[in-house]
Amino acid sequence: MNETDLEYLYIVAIVLFILSLRWMSEVKTSRRGNWAASAGMAVAVVATLLAFQIQRIDLLVGAAAIGTIVGLPIALKLPMTAVPQRTAMSHAFGSLAVALVGAAEYYQYLPTIDTFTTSVLSAEMILGFLTFTGSCIAFAKLQGLIPGKPLVYPGRIIVSLSTLGVAVALAVYLVLNPTQGFVLPIMAAFALFFGFLLVMGIGGADMPTVIAILNSYAGISAAGLGFVLDNKVLIVAGALDGSSGFVLALIMSQAMNRSFINVLFGAVGSKTTKVSEDASHGGRTAQSYTVEDVATVLSNARSVIIVPGYGMAVSQAQHVVKELADVIQGLGCDVKYAIHPVAGRMPGHMNVLLAEAQVPYEQLWEMDRVNSLFPETDVAIVVGANDVTNPAARTKPDSPLYGMPVLDVDKAKTVVFIKRSMNPGFSGADNELFYLPNTMMVFGDAKRVLADLVAALKKG
Ligand code: NAP
Repeated sequence: MNETDLEYLYIVAIVLFILSLRWMSEVKTSRRGNWAASAGMAVAVVATLLAFQIQRIDLLVGAAAIGTIVGLPIALKLPMTAVPQRTAMSHAFGSLAVALVGAAEYYQYLPTIDTFTTSVLSAEMILGFLTFTGSCIAFAKLQGLIPGKPLVYPGRIIVSLSTLGVAVALAVYLVLNPTQGFVLPIMAAFALFFGFLLVMGIGGADMPTVIAILNSYAGISAAGLGFVLDNKVLIVAGALDGSSGFVLALIMSQAMNRSFINVLFGAVGSKTTKVSEDASHGGRTAQSYTVEDVATVLSNARSVIIVPGYGMAVSQAQHVVKELADVIQGLGCDVKYAIHPVAGRMPGHMNVLLAEAQVPYEQLWEMDRVNSLFPETDVAIVVGANDVTNPAARTKPDSPLYGMPVLDVDKAKTVVFIKRSMNPGFSGADNELFYLPNTMMVFGDAKRVLADLVAALKKG
């Protein structure tokens, strides 16, 4: 294939990447966006393979076969609730590949490597290596392999910044003395260690934002490598990845009321999270109710807001949630869904599940719009959500959730909580709402409880 054909194919791939981002920003077109991104990547890979003379086809085929054997079952079987972990692993492998290719390029250019190439390679290797360990730790935290609590010790910030400082100083030394190849592995080790420290210092509840930032770092690193390899599609894809990850991290920081700078440098969750350990719940008791009690309340309600959360995803209750909404709407009640930006375990988690259950998009209300409606709402039904409803985020400065905007379900006339136990949510914080006089706790798996509730309402 000649140079011009390659350029045309790269333009096709780039257009597909841009369209995919556009389409993925709306639930209705998100599947198309996913296909466009996959097609763009296929075009870019095939064009690159055709354009260059391949020395070892056996290695390429072997690597593609291993990737397919490992990736296909993961893609087909992975539960939606584990997508954040999987995303973290994609960033880990992507950034490791970018960093290792960068290292290979550096040694290949020796001893005639120029200053510009060395500086770009050093920067992209630091980002690539730190993203690798950071993403592995994010994976381990989200998968529950290690505790989600931030690793806090005196002088933590100084240790982290010094580690990064040494990596950067070594990079500067390498740029000034490009033939001193022995520096590269030491620089890589410091960058790897910094990635570890960065994410170990962040609490589990902030992992979504961290993953978006790591996404951004991986993209910037790939774009840097694109400059060295003079590969335009890699530059554009890396820049798109880097900037979209950055914007997503900004939006999520705002949604969780976190300082973006703190998240960027791993200083979030450093507050000693005195998770309320009122094991006795301060002598308070929550009131447990039956589905029949809730059915009676619902049959008299004029307005209901359903608040889905992680538990709905776990129990795959989205279809029966829609069924319940249909039944109460049939009784003349207005139904809305309140969507918190970080409900569940990934951005847009609830939107995806509710779209799968054919919930009309107009019924989904974002947090900012829906919060003012709770005081006039008869019943808020909380389906497997917890942290995103916790008023401690507004009132308790020692709560790990303090400062995060939450759904004001406590302001509804009656709150129905459907969950299996009194266990806390992702942050580990106890929820005051369980003990309020207007709260009805209904214990059990969300899917089963909702199915019983639908049956009770239909029976009248
Ligand atoms: P949450 O605070 O984690 O609470 C989920 C609740 O669901 C739990 O209290 C659990 O209580 C209940 N549950 C679990 N399985 C259930 C089942 N089968 N049936 C019924 N209930 C079930 O969830 P959230 O309110 O959605 O808040 C999300 C949290 O995750 C936030 O802290 C957020 O920062 C964090 N996070 C978000 C993302 C993201 O991007 N969205 C990513 C990572 C972390 P029981 O065990 O008693 O049933």
